[in-house]
Amino acid sequence: MAAPTTFTIACIIICLVIGPNVEAEEESRPPHIAIVGGGIGGTSTAYFMREQFGSEAVIDVYEKNTIGGRLATVNINSRDYESGGSIIHPENLYMVNFTKILGLEKRERPSGQVMGIFDGEEMRMTTSPYTVVTLAKMFWRYGLDIYNLQKWVSSDLMVKFKRIYEVQDAGYAYTNVPELLASMDPSFANYLKKSIMMVMREEGLHEALIHELVMGAMRTNYGQGLEIPGFVGAISMAGVEPGLWSVKGGNKVIPENIVKYSKINVIPAVVKMVEFLEDEPFLYEVYYKQDENGEVKTKRYDMVVIATPLHDGISNIKFEGFQQDIHNFPQQYHKTVATFVHGKVNSSYFGMEKATEMPNEVFTCNMNLLMNSFGQHLPVDYSSASDKIPPINEDIVGKIFSNRELTQEEIKLYFRSIEEVHTVSWMAYPEYNFKKTDDLPPFLLNERLYYVKAIELAASAMEMEALAGRNIALLAYNHWHDKLDKIDEKYVDPSQVSSSGTGDL
Ligand SMILES: Cc1cc2nc3c(=O)[nH]c(=O)nc-3n(C[C@H](O)[C@H](O)[C@H](O)COP(=O)(O)OP(=O)(O)OC[C@H]3O[C@@H](n4cnc5c(N)ncnc54)[C@H](O)[C@@H]3O)c2cc1C
Repeated sequence: MAAPTTFTIACIIICLVIGPNVEAEEESRPPHIAIVGGGIGGTSTAYFMREQFGSEAVIDVYEKNTIGGRLATVNINSRDYESGGSIIHPENLYMVNFTKILGLEKRERPSGQVMGIFDGEEMRMTTSPYTVVTLAKMFWRYGLDIYNLQKWVSSDLMVKFKRIYEVQDAGYAYTNVPELLASMDPSFANYLKKSIMMVMREEGLHEALIHELVMGAMRTNYGQGLEIPGFVGAISMAGVEPGLWSVKGGNKVIPENIVKYSKINVIPAVVKMVEFLEDEPFLYEVYYKQDENGEVKTKRYDMVVIATPLHDGISNIKFEGFQQDIHNFPQQYHKTVATFVHGKVNSSYFGMEKATEMPNEVFTCNMNLLMNSFGQHLPVDYSSASDKIPPINEDIVGKIFSNRELTQEEIKLYFRSIEEVHTVSWMAYPEYNFKKTDDLPPFLLNERLYYVKAIELAASAMEMEALAGRNIALLAYNHWHDKLDKIDEKYVDPSQVSSSGTGDL
């Protein structure tokens, strides 16, 4: 397992020195918890905090904009479309469970959609509306690699990934990301230190598949290339599996409904400062403003969860009164611009002779291209029963991902007629680099000060936020009740323990 950073060790020492003072008080009353940020990270933490601490716990979520954060929609031609996080894997169990518990509906991707891989001049490969033809075309281009990739994703990657649910059901929690990943499988912590290209080569896959399909997935999902660390790259490759889905009405309805379901008090305010108090009974004071010119208000808590990235350009929360300086982490965030165009796509730009054969979704495999990906988008309330998918050569809503805003001239290259354009610019996810994963932020910043977003430096995805949220809730619960044997300890599956009582893992 990865060695703890000096920062983590310092946090542990702080906890050991000042931890036990307030124990008796804590046992006797439910905690007061502040969560800063109402995206899927903050709201899923709130959900699991309620699950751990029960109905009496005071749980406040501070949100400066709208609940949902990077899960959001944009209105085009009177329909809403996902503008941020859109695709969920069928085996992302927390997202699946939220959808069920909250009484929401899944929106499956329609069948028969065609995908292409574009190199800037021509389509290197296109799939077919018919699965059998797609398999034959894939096999023709990539040989057995396509089978080996799918087998690796379904029988290796996902099997190891799903171990986290068992570990968390058993109550185990981790103070840092490498330990959490290692609890799924030791290879996952190592994947942080290798690029996705190295991981794919180690899996025996060949250059054509790596430089086309894998590159296309990295550019579509993270706007970056094959140098991104193996773990986030592998998570991205899970998108090659069938059964991807979204939530009907928009994925943002999950965080919106969690706060109602779990009876969370949402405070519409921007948190300016978190102060560490020496006096009891509360450890923290949160300073917040409900409008820009209004007064600064304060509220006291036993624990605080930061659920927004602590990075320059995104956050400027101050931390006062700490023995150790807490400030933004050095990693940068990657700008991704989603340009939505209502109009007719210019298939000849994509090297397609017949407009009717233009793929509905295009990955790009050339790092010099401005466009990372293109896709025909369907509204969040799309229903196969009542909606007809517009043919690709007619008026559609298309989404282009790029690393900067597109000019009108650039949009006209991709669309031969334009009715309407909407641009959403995101500080979307971290700028990933496998050579810079040595000093990742920890989940524990100080005694009972938690940081959900530590997970995002390993991989940014809705399910990752949800499992980090549960990790924080378990960590908080284990700290509150002094269950130190379930913190940073290896979980041993009881079925793997031999009758002599010794674990064989
Ligand atoms: C374009 C795009 C496409 C994506 N596609 C996918 C996908 O297909 N599948 C997938 O799984 N993931 C996808 N993701 C990633 C996914 O959307 C994110 O990982 C996830 O939404 C992050 O959630 P979060 O709660 O951690 O952060 P955020 O959603 O950023 O939430 C943080 C919240 O904190 C609030 N806040 C910040 N500072 C303060 C403060 N001082 N006081 C009060 N509130 C504050 C913000 O307003 C925000 O609402 C995509 C992301 C983007 C941008």
